[in-house]
Amino acid sequence: MLWTGTRLRVNWRIVRAKMKSFWVNLLVKATLPLGTRWVRKQEAAILREGRPLRDWERTWAEDVGVRRPEEVRILPVPRVPTPGEGFIRVLNRFFGFLFEGPTGMAVNYGIYLEASQATNPSLLVHELTHVAQFERLGGVEPFLKEYLTQCVRDGYWESNLEQEAREAAAPFTRPPGG
Ligand SMILES: [Zn+2]
Repeated sequence: MLWTGTRLRVNWRIVRAKMKSFWVNLLVKATLPLGTRWVRKQEAAILREGRPLRDWERTWAEDVGVRRPEEVRILPVPRVPTPGEGFIRVLNRFFGFLFEGPTGMAVNYGIYLEASQATNPSLLVHELTHVAQFERLGGVEPFLKEYLTQCVRDGYWESNLEQEAREAAAPFTRPPGG
């Protein structure tokens, strides 16, 4: 037996990485069914009560890759709803992973916008990018699985899906004339 310190450290790194991916998978598996149900319920409400995209918003949707912009509905609300009691505690801890703060949220073809932000193009383009991601990944459950995995594993800010949405919205965040 001849294990050097270096070799031991390398082995522990692998063990830690495997442990992490085990817990990430477990957490995602535990939250996915409730998360999927909640998202579908919110989407149904927005599709019922929301408004379709205006012409220029449709152009933005197409620009970020939404394939069926005619399906998208926007519902401005005083406060963007949160999962609340139906969600298990651990998901509430990761609240920041699921929502764009309280100002906007995309649930498949439904978009909640906080009323005070309802005319903020940067927020809408960010959420439209998530709509495109729902389409690309194949709907509510596959999107949520990938999104939760990335957020738990890499962090909300570092997740590829959030980075893509931030980058798409970036040109819209400049002040007029800037
Ligand atoms: Zn986002």
